[in-house]
Amino acid sequence: MQNEMLITDLSYAQLESWLATLGEPAFRARQVFEWVYRSLVSDFGGMTNLPSSLRERLGTLAEVQSLELLETIGSANGLSQKGLFRLHDQETIEAVLMYYEGRRTVCISSQVGCALSCPFCATGQSGFQRNLTSGEIISQVLHYAAQLKSNGEMVSNVVFMGMGEPMANYEAVWQAIQVLNDARGLGLGGRRFVISTAGLVPGIQKLANEHVPVGLAVSLHAPTDDLRDRLVPANRHYPIVQLIEACREYTERTRRRVSFEYALMDGVNDAREQAQALGELLQGLLCHVNLIPLNPTAACEYRPAPRASIMAFRKELNRLGVANTVRLARGLDIQAGCGQLRSRLGSVPG
Ligand code: SF4
Repeated sequence: MQNEMLITDLSYAQLESWLATLGEPAFRARQVFEWVYRSLVSDFGGMTNLPSSLRERLGTLAEVQSLELLETIGSANGLSQKGLFRLHDQETIEAVLMYYEGRRTVCISSQVGCALSCPFCATGQSGFQRNLTSGEIISQVLHYAAQLKSNGEMVSNVVFMGMGEPMANYEAVWQAIQVLNDARGLGLGGRRFVISTAGLVPGIQKLANEHVPVGLAVSLHAPTDDLRDRLVPANRHYPIVQLIEACREYTERTRRRVSFEYALMDGVNDAREQAQALGELLQGLLCHVNLIPLNPTAACEYRPAPRASIMAFRKELNRLGVANTVRLARGLDIQAGCGQLRSRLGSVPG
């Protein structure tokens, strides 16, 4: 990237103010916004209803797209596609496009690396480098929106389940959601977003009070503090009782259910007693449990739970009236399943 400034770091109002400082009238903001978010052009040169002098000037001051695609890997079944992208400072991130029946979901990163160090997660094992800006978050969506557009398709859902903890980069994540939700651009709609968190309570409380009803997924993985302290170290700061209380506040304010992610690990968190403890913890809460056989990563000591214990776990949750599903593992052969991003960065060129 030649310029420091990224146009997608600006909301519509900020774009209008910035263009005003260049002496441009307010309607230019609408033109530029539509080019970026509706026509999905990736440089100012393609904004053909702007005067050529303005296109040139904007091109010397800012960039439209910040990401350079280094590599794409598709899963064998063709339903997942992972992109490895280089940022302007040479850091790399990954994003995944997933094809579901009637949906095109983009799973995006919010940070380079992650500071929360969950022991079963490839991203957590690689440490934390920096937060992404809102424009860098948006750029991942725009990349896949442009790709889908060439086939007459659109991004339908955006999930913050890639690299990083979105609640630890809340302002940039929220600005990105607002811009992608802006009806003058992509207009995705609040219900099309899901923020996945390891359980940072202040972030959940903020989300509960936002005016856009964004979905919430919580990586729970254990029903008791002693085990969760080990599996999700953020629990040492925000223990389960505080976490569940924040989730309850979220459901009451938004009227949306919380998804709890529970990666089943053989002999660690897959016993019937643990299913019972989980069911009792969540009884009466507007929620859904996604049971996910753990995605194996090379450096991870934990193994996926066997099918029999997954079925027994489900039975116990059903008995206690807690809604649940076993989530289909996606993209395992391209290491794009949850917790697997970054596990093959050693092979990144450049
Ligand atoms: S599971 Fe999520 S919160 Fe935990 S280390 Fe990985 S990216 Fe970070």
